[in-house]
Amino acid sequence: MSHPIAGRITFNLVAGILVTVVTVIAGVAWMAFRQNDQAAEQTRTMVMGGVDAMHTRVQGLANDYSWWEEAFDAYQRGDEGWIEANIGTGIVDTQIADFLAIISPDRELRYGWWTPADAPNSQTVMSPELIAKIEELIRTAPVENNAARSSYVQTEAGTLLFAVARIAPVSKAGTVDPSTLPVLVMGFYLSSQRLSELGRSFLIDDLRLQPEDASHPAGDFPEIRDVYGKVVGRFVWTPPTPGFAVLRNVVAPIAGGLLVFCLIAMWTVLRARRLALSQALSERQAVEAARTDSLTGLTNRFGFNELSASPIFEAACAGGEAAIVYLDINGFKSVNDSIGHQGGDELVSMLADRLSMILPPDARFARVGGDEFAVALTGRAALGGVAGVASAMVHALDQPFTVAGFQFQVTAAVGYAISDGGDITPGELLRRADLAMYQAKNAAERDAVPYHPGLETGALHRKRLGMALRGAIEANEMSVVYQPIVRATDLAIVSVEALVRWDSKEFGRVSPVDFIPVAEETGAIHDIGKFVFQRACQDMIDWPGLKMSINVSPAQLRDPSFANDLGAIARRHDVVPNRFKLELTEGLLVRNPTIAKRKLARLKSMGFGLSLDDFGTGFSSIGYLRQFPFDWLKIDKSFISELGSNPTANALIQSMIALGDAMDIAVVAEGIETVEQLQLLRLLQCEFVQGYYLAKPMPASEISALLAKLGETRRILPELELPGFEPGRSVLTAQF
Ligand code: C2E
Ligand code: MG
Ligand code: MG
Repeated sequence: MSHPIAGRITFNLVAGILVTVVTVIAGVAWMAFRQNDQAAEQTRTMVMGGVDAMHTRVQGLANDYSWWEEAFDAYQRGDEGWIEANIGTGIVDTQIADFLAIISPDRELRYGWWTPADAPNSQTVMSPELIAKIEELIRTAPVENNAARSSYVQTEAGTLLFAVARIAPVSKAGTVDPSTLPVLVMGFYLSSQRLSELGRSFLIDDLRLQPEDASHPAGDFPEIRDVYGKVVGRFVWTPPTPGFAVLRNVVAPIAGGLLVFCLIAMWTVLRARRLALSQALSERQAVEAARTDSLTGLTNRFGFNELSASPIFEAACAGGEAAIVYLDINGFKSVNDSIGHQGGDELVSMLADRLSMILPPDARFARVGGDEFAVALTGRAALGGVAGVASAMVHALDQPFTVAGFQFQVTAAVGYAISDGGDITPGELLRRADLAMYQAKNAAERDAVPYHPGLETGALHRKRLGMALRGAIEANEMSVVYQPIVRATDLAIVSVEALVRWDSKEFGRVSPVDFIPVAEETGAIHDIGKFVFQRACQDMIDWPGLKMSINVSPAQLRDPSFANDLGAIARRHDVVPNRFKLELTEGLLVRNPTIAKRKLARLKSMGFGLSLDDFGTGFSSIGYLRQFPFDWLKIDKSFISELGSNPTANALIQSMIALGDAMDIAVVAEGIETVEQLQLLRLLQCEFVQGYYLAKPMPASEISALLAKLGETRRILPELELPGFEPGRSVLTAQF
């Protein structure tokens, strides 16, 4: 499990530790080496100083013994005894030099001393090479005090540091010819013993002289040159390493310190890493939670949007290998209203479980709203089956759900869209699936609806209608018209039906056939219903004795406070409920008979009359009429329009009227547009009639005017010549 932040923290801290450790080690090492270098430089200076001192010393000795009147005189005299006593023994006894010789002006060895006893004597040492070097040194030397000069010569006894000076009569120094003077040669061997003594004074153990030779590296050691400038050897030694000594002392505490530092730093690294990881984990969990619906555990809308916007899905869309199915539970609000939100939640999660089981394994299933689900499918195989999947989703709900001991039958609107590869974006695919679902909802389809371009105009229009509906009442765009319902026998107005009208600023007059389903979908129907009922209550005060039919949508009836609201409004306007007939269509009765029965019984008990609207168009069976306490049934106008031209319609109308008779339910025929239709219905003994032929829907003021005009009898069309009507006569007359 790795995370960029944890990785970065680890890297930074480890890099920090490494840099610190390397810096400390490099710093200490640098200091040690620097100290070594300084010590080496110092030693070199000291050695060179020591070598210079040897030269000074040997030159000083040569000066002392040569700038000496008596010594010159003794030499001139050939006084070997004096020379032996004052020069030779002094040197040899005190061992201040290893070698001493006096040579004549013509370079003959006159006197010679050496020490130790076994060292090569002056004769052997005094080689032509040495003589030549002495000559070279002395040649330019003036006759004066401190004129001694020194150099090196390689002898069989080792390297000899020697000084030469003329033995001069001090009193006649300025006048004497130098070439007539004898020469004193004094020197000592740079033996290993002497050098190591010298070295020890500088704290060097192994100072030695190394002959100049290509096999030895020259290094940075001081060299010695002979009188011709030729390198004859070099002083070498093992340079001291005080830095390393210090290092040896500090290495343990520093290593200990570094170790402690590393441990603390590692601990910090691990801790920071753990923290970063746990933070990353909780971040991931939060992101995951934000994508998940807590009720069903499915992906939520956010997650689904993310998925549909993903490059993979986008590519599938563009490649014509993606499909989306939308499912929306019908009337979920009323489910919630009747069993509470908890029950609703339970239903949703049961439904989600059931749908999950029928979906292909690679389908992405999401809950994208309270009662909305979406499925995303990709790949060729999935596409082939999308119609089947969508249909199976519809039918998965055929079996009722049991929630809190109650059985619930829910239906759903399902729509789907398939990308056809024609450059479709995921957004467009979603919109199309939504549109298809919308169509399924509005057309109350009992199967899944695939998207097709024909849906575009209608659905879009409905969407815009829904938006416009929101403020329609406040904007005073809604009004109510009333259409008289007339008793067939004497054509007296007995009732009016309230019909809502919407004059939209945006769309002009919109038919209730178009906007009522939209209002049902958006929930605006509740306010519209109350508005109509209230207006009807106000208006009917002027029409005593007249009944009032009010259309009620199934959605309204599912509102738990519906009955109470109606009762309250009626009371407020002082209108008794039994002046009303509530017109219902079968939709609700079919979908949820148990709830419907309870609700209708309640309305009935409050005094409201009930009318079954659009009878014959749906699935209505005689059973419904028996189950529910209807007072009226309204034969749908589609039958009336076929009256006279379609024998089946005639027979159907006849049987509906007979049914009403038998069940003691008053029958109303609506949509009467011609005198013939009216006459036929009267012949068929239809009790009440309604239609444009008799009266069109009109504003309240016109109803009032009409009533005033008609007077007491309220008989409409008094001029109409009514054919004979005999109550009780068989309706199966030969006129058809
Ligand atoms: P409905 O309840 O069946 O209403 C009768 C419809 O038939 C009315 O249409 C009326 O104007 C029309 N109509 C009446 N006589 C004739 C005729 O002779 N010929 C023809 N062709 N039509 C006739 P409208 O007003 O357009 O209402 C349509 C539907 O809208 C109504 O059908 C009703 O279901 C619904 N509706 C109207 N107002 C309301 C309302 O306030 N609330 C509810 N929930 N629904 C309403
Ligand atoms: Mg009606
Ligand atoms: Mg109707």
